[in-house]
Amino acid sequence: MDGAAFDDRTVELMAFGEPRTDRIDFLYVLPFARDRALVEATSFAPAPPPRAALQAQLDDAVTACTGGRPVECVRREAGFIPMRAGDARRAATTGEPRWLRAGVAGGAARPSTGYAFQRIQRQSDLLAAALRARGAAPPAPPALDGPVTRGMDALFLKVLRRWPEAGPHLFRQLFAHAPADRLERFLSGSTASQDRLAVVGALPPTPFLRALLST
Ligand SMILES: Cc1cc2nc3c(=O)[nH]c(=O)nc-3n(C[C@H](O)[C@H](O)[C@H](O)COP(=O)(O)OP(=O)(O)OC[C@H]3O[C@@H](n4cnc5c(N)ncnc54)[C@H](O)[C@@H]3O)c2cc1C
Repeated sequence: MDGAAFDDRTVELMAFGEPRTDRIDFLYVLPFARDRALVEATSFAPAPPPRAALQAQLDDAVTACTGGRPVECVRREAGFIPMRAGDARRAATTGEPRWLRAGVAGGAARPSTGYAFQRIQRQSDLLAAALRARGAAPPAPPALDGPVTRGMDALFLKVLRRWPEAGPHLFRQLFAHAPADRLERFLSGSTASQDRLAVVGALPPTPFLRALLST
């Protein structure tokens, strides 16, 4: 676009929209320069939201950044990440012993965050090592998460699914009260008890206890 619209030293991550009962909406604004940025409209939802709803969020975000000045859209993309609790490695088997799915199709996305990029590198390394050791494809990709991580992710997703309207508040509590370094490590896959406890301690216990005690 013509002129400055973005602060190129600041990124906006998970800027939440109004609480809703059907999904949790948020935005990312990732500037590359003062006149160029990647703007993402994102939802945590049980099914992909209508394209028009995402487009409206995107249009509003761009207008808020630019004050309605004309912009050039250089590239546009859309996608979704499966955020399933449980052992996602099942998704990786194809029924054909010589073939396994890898990456997101192979269950590499972290169920609670959708983070996949670094996990895909790790899955690829583990798969290559297993292939070298066996001389044949392993029956399933190596597990990326242990049972505690899987249990915590499943509980978190259960709370978000039951009470999406509480989602923005829960995330804000997490970002406000968990020490940034511990939260960053936890989100990047740390299994250290102190990092896990920092996250648990930052969240209000009631919805998690209610979800834990309900079916
Ligand atoms: C909008 C969005 C933002 C994301 N942001 C992040 C992020 O910030 N951090 C992060 O860690 N992760 C993020 N992810 C998740 C993940 O890192 C990406 O989805 C990543 O691209 C997944 O890589 P992949 O190789 O598993 O799948 P893909 O990049 O989707 O590659 C799969 C390829 O296989 C091809 N293909 C599919 N079917 C067939 C077939 N039958 N025959 C041949 N080819 C086929 C497809 O065309 C595609 O090129 C994001 C995902 C999305 C959608």
